[in-house]
Amino acid sequence: MKKLFWPSQLWLKMLWGMVLGLAVGYALSPEGMALVTQQTSGVVADWVYVPGALFLGLVKMVVIPLVVCSIVTGIAASDDIAFLKDSGWRIALYFVGTTTVAVMLAYAITNIVNPSAYVALETLVAAENQQPPDAAAIMAEPDLPKMIVSMIPTNPAGAIVNSEMLQIVIGSILMGIALLSLSKPRAKPLLDLCTSVQDVAMKVVGWAMVIAPYAVFGLLCNMVIKTGFAAMAGLAAYVAAILAGLVALLVMYLLIVKFVAGRSPLEFLHGIRDAQILAFSTSSSAATMPVTLRVAEEKLKIQPSVFKFVIPLGTTINMDGTALYQMTAGLFLASVFQIDLSLGQTVLLAVTIIGASIGSPGSPGVGLVILATILNSLGVEPSGIALILSVDRILDMCRTTINVTGDLTACAVMDKWMAPKKLTKKTSKTAA
Ligand code: ASP
Repeated sequence: MKKLFWPSQLWLKMLWGMVLGLAVGYALSPEGMALVTQQTSGVVADWVYVPGALFLGLVKMVVIPLVVCSIVTGIAASDDIAFLKDSGWRIALYFVGTTTVAVMLAYAITNIVNPSAYVALETLVAAENQQPPDAAAIMAEPDLPKMIVSMIPTNPAGAIVNSEMLQIVIGSILMGIALLSLSKPRAKPLLDLCTSVQDVAMKVVGWAMVIAPYAVFGLLCNMVIKTGFAAMAGLAAYVAAILAGLVALLVMYLLIVKFVAGRSPLEFLHGIRDAQILAFSTSSSAATMPVTLRVAEEKLKIQPSVFKFVIPLGTTINMDGTALYQMTAGLFLASVFQIDLSLGQTVLLAVTIIGASIGSPGSPGVGLVILATILNSLGVEPSGIALILSVDRILDMCRTTINVTGDLTACAVMDKWMAPKKLTKKTSKTAA
């Protein structure tokens, strides 16, 4: 009993942080039980946020060096360019494949649930008075040729300053491949440096994890005090459709873990709890990434050449939860605003979402902002976004959890796909 209330395992402490954070937030929130005045709850919200901000600060401090060094050492560990090319194709196809399934799932579920039929009138009226996010200021209209060219970090320092994750990932992949093609003695100094930087970063992450349960408590308590749950009532069917889609994705991952990766789904879920709870609390797969790496190495025992490459890459380009959310929200809003989408338009929407999920950074709220831009091209007024703004935070928490689960599933699959191949290659070399 003592163990349950004063647990030693980190995940249980974080779970307590989560439950208490939601409960205390609800008790103090003006929209919840309102046990204190609005002013006092505001002060409490600011203070409980402190451990959360410290945790996020520590993790964000190391996330970029960690991405660069993990990818470089991950590629170098594969030790063979042909093997790398083969795995690169598999990973890319796997990511695009699962994102496509996510979008198709969203289409099916939206058609079954038809959430636009349940929107309460007062929700629509309230949305008209809300300020939509300024999508244009954050992201210009998608321009494919320009997007492709801008993937190369011509100014690496600029990419780091602006946290352009896709550019950083691509720059690191190029650096890793270049390093792999050098002779061992010439590559060694840079590789040693990257390994050291990575170890230092993981040490800092270890310190951050000490305050993780308090951070989880603070982030959730702050979120509930500030946003409350009331907004969800008018959009219950929409929220339910997205949650159902995310659960379906989770089931798909567990089936993949069982039948493709050949692992026990329960053990897998058991192992990845730390990363999932953090993803839920921070709404950011990038901030969760250091912990995702730790989970892949220590709990799932994935080989280093796989997890060091797949996790940073997946965090940046594999966002099945976000894609599912965007497709559901897009179809929902089109229907609320009575825009009849032709088959061609629906396919275009799906393709744009799959493409956008590759370029989106794993930060809170990004999915919504990018959706605003996509919807604009469909003819849905950006103000339509205001309708779903109020419930975005909770959905962001859930989709980020699925995004991180998807990255870890990909890791388990690649671990299985790549290990025997490498072994065969080595054995045949020895035999020759
Ligand atoms: N918050 C999500 C993530 O970090 C992205 C999004 O859908 O907004 O994975």
